[in-house]
Amino acid sequence: MISSVYIHIPFCKSICSYCDFCKVIYNKEWAVSYLKMLKNEIDDRYMGEKIRTIYIGGGTPSALSLKEIEFLLLLTNKFDKTMLEEFTFECNIEDINEELMLLLKKYNVNRISIGIESFDSNNLLLMKRKVDYNECKSKIEMMRRLGFNNINIDLIYALPDEKIQVVRDDIKKILSLNPEHISTYSLIIEDNTYLGYKKTKSIPEDLDLEMYDYICKRLSKAGYNHYEVSNFAKEGYESKHNLVYWNNNEYYGFGCGASGYTSGVRYDNTRSLSEYLKGNIKSVENLISRENEMEYEVMLGLRKTNGINVREFYNKFNVNIQDVFPVKPLLRSEELIYKDGQLFINPQYLYVMNEILVKLV
Ligand code: SF4
Repeated sequence: MISSVYIHIPFCKSICSYCDFCKVIYNKEWAVSYLKMLKNEIDDRYMGEKIRTIYIGGGTPSALSLKEIEFLLLLTNKFDKTMLEEFTFECNIEDINEELMLLLKKYNVNRISIGIESFDSNNLLLMKRKVDYNECKSKIEMMRRLGFNNINIDLIYALPDEKIQVVRDDIKKILSLNPEHISTYSLIIEDNTYLGYKKTKSIPEDLDLEMYDYICKRLSKAGYNHYEVSNFAKEGYESKHNLVYWNNNEYYGFGCGASGYTSGVRYDNTRSLSEYLKGNIKSVENLISRENEMEYEVMLGLRKTNGINVREFYNKFNVNIQDVFPVKPLLRSEELIYKDGQLFINPQYLYVMNEILVKLV
């Protein structure tokens, strides 16, 4: 049963040098047409399920005008929200103000995800982003006053020429803002980005590992649960929406560039805004076979630090996980651990999770 919705807003006020998401520079005319098309897509595809989590991401949803944001939030009233537990809205810090926060509150948004990424001036210059620590601090204080008690902050590390001390300073500043959730991303330089076009080199792998190791230890020491390879949360604040993905459950994806998983079909909407505005919304649909579904279950489930419940896997697929995937050699090499009914990646090897998944699937 589907109980989650992702909505993609592809507009940004400026384009970051590392970004390969589906996005364009904000344009009023396009934004208005886009929201109308989004309404059509939701009206056509939503089947009336009770929705437990909604995530509005991008792009930068907060790049829209207040009037456009209200139109967008009104669209979410189409969903049956009687069981709603988590409603996330992504914001860039410069867009946050009291008026926006009150509007989000009015429509039941209870989680704000802020793309801070770094406080370091060299990193910000390289990423083509603007962030000011004091502005973040005062805006988060204002959000707290208005009752937002579930805030995520994104951090990007492993930028070219970045030193470990920069990561330490960024983490220290993020911790001083006391967010409930922290998402971290090691920078991957994709070809179709400004950094890729400039042939920018990644940092050495051993330094990347040192940074990852530092982040994991420092955030655990500060009381955050390292519950997914790149995500950390205070107890009870693990992202319910993102757990839907990692638990391989179905969800709607609406909007240009959005992906979804409904009725056994994984689909990707077109990444072309002009096609989307013409109503040519879906570009790829894949019917998921039982084998595919088991592979997704393993690849997504092992991203969580508590991994996969072996009994639940059996109940879902009527087969033992070790009879389908080469689990035993990886248990012998201690890359995987089996404990209390859970199969998970040895924390020492989380950094090379992808290599382990390749051996498994
Ligand atoms: S990283 Fe976020 S804000 Fe920057 S261009 Fe990409 S979607 Fe927009």
